[in-house]
Amino acid sequence: MPLQLPILPLATPNQRYSCHGCGSCCRDFSVQLRDADVRRIEQQRWQSELGFDPVVQFRGQRYLRQRADGACVFLQEDGKCRIHARDGFAEKPLACQMFPYTLSPDAHVSRLGVSFACGSVTANRGDPLRGQEVEALRIALRGIPESLAVTPNAPLAKGLRSQPGELEALERRVVRWIDSAHPLSTRIDGLGWIAQTLSAAKLASVRGDRWTELLDILLGALPDELAGPPLMPATSRQRAMLRGAVFARTEDPKPLAAGAPSRARATVQQLLRSMRWQRGRSTAVIPSIGLGWPTGARFGAVDSMPPAVGSEDSTLIDELVTRWLRTRVEGGRVWGSGAYGWSAVDGTAALALSVATVGWVARWHAVASGRASVTLADMQAAVGRIDRTAGRAPWLGGAAERWRTAYLLRDHGMRRVLRDQWFSA
Ligand code: SF4
Repeated sequence: MPLQLPILPLATPNQRYSCHGCGSCCRDFSVQLRDADVRRIEQQRWQSELGFDPVVQFRGQRYLRQRADGACVFLQEDGKCRIHARDGFAEKPLACQMFPYTLSPDAHVSRLGVSFACGSVTANRGDPLRGQEVEALRIALRGIPESLAVTPNAPLAKGLRSQPGELEALERRVVRWIDSAHPLSTRIDGLGWIAQTLSAAKLASVRGDRWTELLDILLGALPDELAGPPLMPATSRQRAMLRGAVFARTEDPKPLAAGAPSRARATVQQLLRSMRWQRGRSTAVIPSIGLGWPTGARFGAVDSMPPAVGSEDSTLIDELVTRWLRTRVEGGRVWGSGAYGWSAVDGTAALALSVATVGWVARWHAVASGRASVTLADMQAAVGRIDRTAGRAPWLGGAAERWRTAYLLRDHGMRRVLRDQWFSA
């Protein structure tokens, strides 16, 4: 099937990427499969060649099976893909062909984005993305997969269809704020404020040009609003919500790797881990998420770790987080098809929550490494881990995540968890 939509290149001006062949996407990434991928793998008769089914199920989705060390079962000792080596690039699952690129279609275009799960993207190594990658993708993919077919534009808010120009107006202003000269902690606090304010606003009567005017008024008022009376730290319930959000964003189907426990046992283990995360007793060791994750750190130590903004690497961390946020917004991965069909208002709130989880995971990495402050490496790991599931973990579009986000939008909860992670005391 030919491509149906023009691909819009990533607008983020300073994002670079070239594949450096590190292979981490084959060792540390769970490859989700579409129907067409599963059919193709069956036609390729891998089950009889490997002696086991290379496709596994996790929470209603199908994935490529992984080895006990977490690597893809198709990764060869020479670091190459077995499907690619035997049958060619175009025979691999779509996710493998595209990585680290993402496509988020709407009614008119498909937006190109990049995943920060790729170390080269996170470290900004390689060629500048100037649009040439669009043509390369077009040739490589040879056709648009059914999952990337035309989809409706995101709603503006729950029950409110977006009108022409409204989503773009919000996108431009969010990007302008993210890219502004304010300190990173202020810009992050402001993102939480924007999410809270839009969620509380009655938007049905503020459409078209009035929507744009409203956004300009809000952004104009933002610096003064943020300088208002100090907020209390997050409550224990709000902190539990944040830990739940971290767990949901870092959950991984690796329990279903070859040699792993049965599905029933894996499900029970996952539930118990989730409950321990929710409780988050300060003296408790943080339950393992999986292979390659920090071990040994205690919840209380993470809460005591200073936020990243005061660290020696704060300038580099600022550049990374700003670039990541811009690519998320400009790559179409905050609302609409790139974010489980979330409305623009709800998706902005979910993005703010993701920023809080990045701050928490970076501090966790620093604690587990025995450091006294968060380094650029900790932040790169955190951004990579949180961005890995963005748009590809169906449970992040489900009722639990919506309830968690809505809860934190009350009583300044979103700003309070953001400030706990990103503001120095
Ligand atoms: S993680 Fe990125 S740099 Fe490493 S092999 Fe995959 S695409 Fe290439």
